[in-house]
Amino acid sequence: MKKSATVAPNIETLPPRRPTRAQAEEAVRTLLAWAGDDPARPGLALTPQRVAEAYGEYFSGYRADPIAELSSTFEDATGYDDMVVLKDIQFESHCEHHIAPFRGIAHVAYIPDGRIVGLSKLARVVEIYARRLQTQEALTGEIAQALMDGLGARGAGVMMVAEHDCMSMRGVRRRGAKTVTARFMGCLQTDEAWRNRFLALVQTADSGA
Ligand SMILES: [Zn+2]
Repeated sequence: MKKSATVAPNIETLPPRRPTRAQAEEAVRTLLAWAGDDPARPGLALTPQRVAEAYGEYFSGYRADPIAELSSTFEDATGYDDMVVLKDIQFESHCEHHIAPFRGIAHVAYIPDGRIVGLSKLARVVEIYARRLQTQEALTGEIAQALMDGLGARGAGVMMVAEHDCMSMRGVRRRGAKTVTARFMGCLQTDEAWRNRFLALVQTADSGA
Protein backbone atom coordinates (compact mmCIF):
# COMPACT_ATOMS: atom_id res chain seq x y z
CA MET A 1 0.00 0.00 0.00
CA LYS A 2 1.30 3.42 -0.86
CA LYS A 3 2.16 5.39 2.21
CA SER A 4 0.75 8.89 2.15
CA ALA A 5 3.34 11.61 2.49
CA THR A 6 0.84 14.08 3.88
CA VAL A 7 0.24 14.39 7.58
CA ALA A 8 -2.50 16.22 9.41
CA PRO A 9 -1.52 19.83 9.91
CA ASN A 10 -0.37 20.82 13.33
CA ILE A 11 0.34 24.10 15.00
CA GLU A 12 3.49 24.54 12.93
CA THR A 13 1.87 23.84 9.59
CA LEU A 14 -1.35 25.83 9.90
CA PRO A 15 -2.30 27.67 6.72
CA PRO A 16 -0.72 31.12 6.88
CA ARG A 17 -3.85 32.96 5.79
CA ARG A 18 -6.81 32.11 7.97
CA PRO A 19 -10.06 33.46 6.52
CA THR A 20 -11.85 36.13 8.50
CA ARG A 21 -14.76 35.32 10.75
CA ALA A 22 -17.08 37.10 8.27
CA GLN A 23 -15.80 34.90 5.45
CA ALA A 24 -16.37 31.79 7.57
CA GLU A 25 -19.95 32.84 8.35
CA GLU A 26 -20.58 33.55 4.67
CA ALA A 27 -19.38 30.04 3.84
CA VAL A 28 -21.93 28.63 6.29
CA ARG A 29 -24.69 30.64 4.58
CA THR A 30 -23.60 29.12 1.26
CA LEU A 31 -23.85 25.60 2.68
CA LEU A 32 -27.29 26.31 4.16
CA ALA A 33 -28.48 27.43 0.72
CA TRP A 34 -26.80 24.38 -0.86
CA ALA A 35 -28.74 22.16 1.56
CA GLY A 36 -31.93 23.73 0.18
CA ASP A 37 -32.88 26.17 2.90
CA ASP A 38 -33.10 29.96 2.98
CA PRO A 39 -30.20 31.38 5.00
CA ALA A 40 -32.17 34.61 5.41
CA ARG A 41 -35.13 33.06 7.26
CA PRO A 42 -35.30 34.10 10.92
CA GLY A 43 -34.59 30.63 12.36
CA LEU A 44 -31.25 30.53 10.58
CA ALA A 45 -30.21 34.13 11.21
CA LEU A 46 -27.74 33.28 13.96
CA THR A 47 -26.72 29.89 12.62
CA PRO A 48 -23.60 31.05 10.73
CA GLN A 49 -22.38 32.78 13.87
CA ARG A 50 -23.06 29.70 16.01
CA VAL A 51 -21.42 27.34 13.53
CA ALA A 52 -18.30 29.51 13.38
CA GLU A 53 -18.12 29.47 17.18
CA ALA A 54 -18.73 25.72 17.30
CA TYR A 55 -15.89 25.18 14.81
CA GLY A 56 -13.66 27.02 17.24
CA GLU A 57 -14.42 24.32 19.82
CA TYR A 58 -14.53 21.29 17.52
CA PHE A 59 -11.16 22.19 16.07
CA SER A 60 -9.40 23.80 19.02
CA GLY A 61 -6.73 21.12 18.67
CA TYR A 62 -5.05 23.06 15.86
CA ARG A 63 -4.12 25.72 18.37
CA ALA A 64 -2.65 23.40 20.99
CA ASP A 65 0.65 21.56 21.13
CA PRO A 66 0.49 17.96 22.40
CA ILE A 67 4.24 17.65 22.82
CA ALA A 68 4.25 20.72 25.09
CA GLU A 69 1.54 19.06 27.22
CA LEU A 70 3.85 16.10 27.75
CA SER A 71 6.89 18.19 28.60
CA SER A 72 6.14 18.41 32.32
CA THR A 73 7.30 14.93 33.28
CA PHE A 74 8.63 14.03 36.69
CA GLU A 75 10.91 11.38 38.03
CA ASP A 76 8.98 8.81 39.98
CA ALA A 77 10.51 8.31 43.41
CA THR A 78 9.67 4.62 43.50
CA GLY A 79 11.42 3.97 40.19
CA TYR A 80 8.22 2.85 38.47
CA ASP A 81 9.16 1.32 35.14
CA ASP A 82 6.13 -0.80 34.26
CA MET A 83 3.39 -0.01 31.79
CA VAL A 84 1.06 2.90 32.56
CA VAL A 85 -2.39 2.45 31.05
CA LEU A 86 -5.19 4.98 30.94
CA LYS A 87 -8.35 3.23 29.82
CA ASP A 88 -11.70 4.38 28.50
CA ILE A 89 -10.81 7.97 27.61
CA GLN A 90 -13.91 9.31 25.90
CA PHE A 91 -13.23 11.34 22.79
CA GLU A 92 -15.10 13.07 20.00
CA SER A 93 -13.55 13.91 16.68
CA HIS A 94 -14.56 14.77 13.11
CA CYS A 95 -13.71 12.75 10.04
CA GLU A 96 -11.68 14.61 7.49
CA HIS A 97 -13.73 13.23 4.63
CA HIS A 98 -17.20 14.47 5.64
CA ILE A 99 -16.62 16.69 8.70
CA ALA A 100 -18.98 14.22 10.38
CA PRO A 101 -18.46 13.37 14.06
CA PHE A 102 -16.99 10.12 15.23
CA ARG A 103 -16.82 9.26 18.88
CA GLY A 104 -15.72 6.52 21.17
CA ILE A 105 -13.07 5.56 23.66
CA ALA A 106 -9.31 5.47 23.62
CA HIS A 107 -6.97 3.26 25.63
CA VAL A 108 -3.52 4.76 25.94
CA ALA A 109 -0.40 3.15 27.37
CA TYR A 110 3.27 3.92 27.64
CA ILE A 111 6.28 2.31 29.23
CA PRO A 112 8.34 5.03 30.90
CA ASP A 113 12.05 5.38 30.59
CA GLY A 114 12.65 6.96 33.97
CA ARG A 115 10.16 9.80 33.66
CA ILE A 116 6.42 9.72 34.09
CA VAL A 117 3.70 12.24 33.30
CA GLY A 118 0.46 13.26 34.99
CA LEU A 119 -2.41 11.03 33.84
CA SER A 120 -4.57 13.98 32.86
CA LYS A 121 -1.90 14.90 30.30
CA LEU A 122 -2.51 11.62 28.48
CA ALA A 123 -6.20 12.43 28.18
CA ARG A 124 -5.31 15.95 27.07
CA VAL A 125 -3.13 14.61 24.23
CA VAL A 126 -6.04 12.47 23.01
CA GLU A 127 -8.28 15.53 23.12
CA ILE A 128 -5.87 17.79 21.23
CA TYR A 129 -5.48 15.37 18.32
CA ALA A 130 -9.20 14.48 18.35
CA ARG A 131 -10.10 18.15 18.02
CA ARG A 132 -8.70 18.29 14.52
CA LEU A 133 -9.99 16.84 11.26
CA GLN A 134 -8.92 13.23 11.39
CA THR A 135 -9.19 9.70 10.24
CA GLN A 136 -9.34 7.27 13.13
CA GLU A 137 -6.25 5.54 11.78
CA ALA A 138 -4.19 8.76 11.71
CA LEU A 139 -5.50 9.85 15.09
CA THR A 140 -4.40 6.57 16.67
CA GLY A 141 -0.92 6.83 15.20
CA GLU A 142 -0.44 10.50 16.10
CA ILE A 143 -1.23 9.87 19.76
CA ALA A 144 1.22 6.96 19.91
CA GLN A 145 3.92 9.01 18.20
CA ALA A 146 3.40 11.91 20.61
CA LEU A 147 3.88 9.56 23.59
CA MET A 148 7.13 8.31 22.11
CA ASP A 149 8.43 11.79 21.20
CA GLY A 150 7.04 13.77 24.12
CA LEU A 151 7.88 11.31 26.89
CA GLY A 152 10.88 9.54 25.43
CA ALA A 153 8.91 6.41 26.30
CA ARG A 154 10.33 2.92 25.79
CA GLY A 155 7.07 1.96 24.18
CA ALA A 156 3.60 3.28 23.48
CA GLY A 157 0.28 1.69 22.62
CA VAL A 158 -3.01 3.23 21.59
CA MET A 159 -6.29 1.49 20.84
CA MET A 160 -9.41 3.35 19.77
CA VAL A 161 -12.96 2.07 19.35
CA ALA A 162 -15.36 4.50 17.70
CA GLU A 163 -18.64 4.90 15.88
CA HIS A 164 -18.66 7.15 12.82
CA ASP A 165 -21.67 9.30 11.94
CA CYS A 166 -20.60 9.26 8.31
CA MET A 167 -21.28 5.49 8.40
CA SER A 168 -24.58 5.72 10.27
CA MET A 169 -26.13 8.87 8.75
CA ARG A 170 -25.03 8.68 5.15
CA GLY A 171 -23.63 6.22 2.63
CA VAL A 172 -24.21 2.67 3.86
CA ARG A 173 -26.20 3.88 6.93
CA ARG A 174 -25.04 1.19 9.31
CA ARG A 175 -25.73 2.08 12.90
CA GLY A 176 -23.77 0.50 15.71
CA ALA A 177 -20.77 -0.55 13.62
CA LYS A 178 -17.59 0.04 15.57
CA THR A 179 -14.20 0.74 14.10
CA VAL A 180 -11.20 -0.52 16.09
CA THR A 181 -7.72 0.80 15.44
CA ALA A 182 -4.48 0.12 17.27
CA ARG A 183 -0.94 1.40 17.04
CA PHE A 184 2.07 0.05 18.89
CA MET A 185 5.49 1.62 18.97
CA GLY A 186 8.85 0.89 20.58
CA CYS A 187 8.90 -2.21 22.77
CA LEU A 188 5.14 -2.56 22.44
CA GLN A 189 5.68 -3.02 18.73
CA THR A 190 8.68 -5.32 18.93
CA ASP A 191 7.79 -7.39 22.00
CA GLU A 192 4.70 -9.54 21.83
CA ALA A 193 4.69 -10.06 25.61
CA TRP A 194 4.30 -6.32 26.26
CA ARG A 195 1.62 -6.10 23.60
CA ASN A 196 -0.33 -9.00 25.08
CA ARG A 197 -0.10 -7.37 28.47
CA PHE A 198 -1.57 -4.15 27.06
CA LEU A 199 -4.39 -6.06 25.39
CA ALA A 200 -5.14 -7.98 28.58
CA LEU A 201 -5.21 -4.78 30.63
CA VAL A 202 -7.53 -2.86 28.31
CA GLN A 203 -9.86 -5.80 27.88
CA THR A 204 -10.24 -6.37 31.62
CA ALA A 205 -13.85 -5.79 32.57
CA ASP A 206 -14.42 -2.65 34.57
CA SER A 207 -14.20 -3.18 38.32
CA GLY A 208 -17.41 -1.22 38.70
CA ALA A 209 -15.59 1.70 40.26
ZN1 LIG B 1 -16.39 10.32 7.03
